[in-house]
Amino acid sequence: MAKGQINVQTENIFPIIKQFLYSDQEIFLRELVSNAVDATQKLKILSNIGEIKGNLGDIQMEVKVDEKANTLTFSDNGIGMTEEELDKYINQIAFSGAEEFVEKYKDKASVIGHFGLGFYSSFMVAEKVEIFSKSHTKGSKAVRWECDGSPNFTLEEDTTRKKRGTDIVLHISEDSKEYLSEFKIKELLDKYCKFMAVPIKFGTKEIDDPEHTPATTKDADGKETKEEQKKIKVDNIINNPSPAWTKAPADLSIENYKDFYRELYPMNFEESLFHIHLNVDYPFNLTGILYFPKLKRNLEVQKDKIQLYSNQVFVTDSVEGIVPDFLTLLHGVIDSPDIPLNVSRSYLQADANVKKISNYISKKVADKLEDLFKKDRKAFEEKWDDIKIFIEYGILSDEKFAEKAKKFTLYKNTDGEYYTFEEYKTKIEVNQTDKDSKVVYLYASNVETQYSYIDAAKAKGYDVLVMDTPLSPHLVGKLEQIDGNTSFTRVDGETIDQLIKKDEEIPSKLTEEDQKVLKPVIEGAVSNESFTVNFVSMSEADQPITITQAEFMRRMKDMSAVGGGGMMGMGNMPDMYNLAVNSNHPLISKILSEKDEVKQKDMAKQATDLALLSQSLLKGEDLSKFIKRSVELI
Ligand code: ADP
Repeated sequence: MAKGQINVQTENIFPIIKQFLYSDQEIFLRELVSNAVDATQKLKILSNIGEIKGNLGDIQMEVKVDEKANTLTFSDNGIGMTEEELDKYINQIAFSGAEEFVEKYKDKASVIGHFGLGFYSSFMVAEKVEIFSKSHTKGSKAVRWECDGSPNFTLEEDTTRKKRGTDIVLHISEDSKEYLSEFKIKELLDKYCKFMAVPIKFGTKEIDDPEHTPATTKDADGKETKEEQKKIKVDNIINNPSPAWTKAPADLSIENYKDFYRELYPMNFEESLFHIHLNVDYPFNLTGILYFPKLKRNLEVQKDKIQLYSNQVFVTDSVEGIVPDFLTLLHGVIDSPDIPLNVSRSYLQADANVKKISNYISKKVADKLEDLFKKDRKAFEEKWDDIKIFIEYGILSDEKFAEKAKKFTLYKNTDGEYYTFEEYKTKIEVNQTDKDSKVVYLYASNVETQYSYIDAAKAKGYDVLVMDTPLSPHLVGKLEQIDGNTSFTRVDGETIDQLIKKDEEIPSKLTEEDQKVLKPVIEGAVSNESFTVNFVSMSEADQPITITQAEFMRRMKDMSAVGGGGMMGMGNMPDMYNLAVNSNHPLISKILSEKDEVKQKDMAKQATDLALLSQSLLKGEDLSKFIKRSVELI
């Protein structure tokens, strides 16, 4: 038996390992399982190249909890280690690796503690660790290694072990007893090892015996009784060693992709809209499948996040910085051995490889959307409402995506027709151009509450778009910025007639003198500084009074509400409205010519209230007074 001391450079690293990364403590399990998986894969490779002859048997690994013995064991039938190898890999290489890792990160509380600590992470939860191993090489002797968390170890021959492979036995420490719970281990295996490349056994499960078909017997009264189904115990394999993303797209059906989506998110009962299979091997390695979920209007915090893997080993489900921001709304997996994992997030964001990966994914997503649009526009239109917020987010946050998205971004009008930007422009430019030759795009952010405005605009032959996501105000600004000849106005924004160029102006019936007399009467009726009264020469058929809100003002308020940069505080500003009096409407003339002051006041009040009502601005006492007054009028 050999006793030895691990060559410690840093003062005792074990206490540091023990405390360190406390929140990420559970990753010891992933480290040990992936070591076992590596050992079995190495064996397979040796066999494939003919280094090892003969049948390897079932290649798998097993995790066992023994509450009584206080142990958690990881067994594999991989390549194993000889005494020399164990000394080299565990006492020297792995140890100095762990030492370096701890040295690097011991002062940093915010380490992403993902990869790097390896085998020695077991000391986060164990007071003693034993390794039993037998190498695959012919005639090798089995060895036993033991270490109690001090730099002292024991390394000796194990005369009892005959099996090839390695058992790592953790003697769980007093304050880590939770890792002796089968339930807990099952949960962690599910989280970290669900798609590891070798079958992982964890206990057994009962299934119906396939050899047994229960017989049905009839008694004297003709009553049927069925024999009980025989059950058998089989290994409970907790992972899927060949998940969909590792296969070629040509080998997968739509159903396979759907099944994999359910496998990834068992708690999500909704289907995804469509998927993208990523597969690249130059200039970096990356595979994966991304799914488009049905997005909620309010961009609720997504609980089904994209999962990042490295060679089928789960790394993280916070992929910010690795995929473009807007893509974090998607679901699915990305697997890349080329993403540096044992580094901090800020480093990750600056990493050139990560940038390339991010650009690649963004491009792939845009290509896929374009493809779907071209192949089956109708189907694409049907999905549009579910994906539009995602695309808007992309256009706003990623220039390259915005450029590509021009080809497939759709605009829906209030009649439910979809157009690309170009198509829509062609449709409306003849009729909707303003005095500065800009094309005026009218839009509604809420088809219900802006109904009367939409109706009025349509009656005049204008078309109205539906732009109703929280990002729409930003998008509108962006579109104006891209194309200087574009101007968006919400349908209850500036009075349309003032905005859009007409072949001939309608002459005003009211003289300037009339307007001077009438203005204070109308102002008195709204008695509120938030309203600016002005006269507009509209058609007789238009509403007598229309309330609008200046486009720029409302847009800034909208944007600050969804956290637009630089507009903080705008949300608290009072709303300002325009009250446009139609100087050609008979009712207005009637109010003007009314000699009875009380009657005139009443009429003005009734007319302004009606206008307020259609903007949903008439509330509380004013509303109930209006109803009373209306009843009296009837
Ligand atoms: P890493 O896995 O990053 O190389 P570890 O500290 O986890 O670092 O492991 C160190 C080395 O110990 C491994 O590279 C491997 O050679 C050896 N090793 C660990 N676990 C096993 C195992 N179950 N079977 C065979 N070799 C192992």
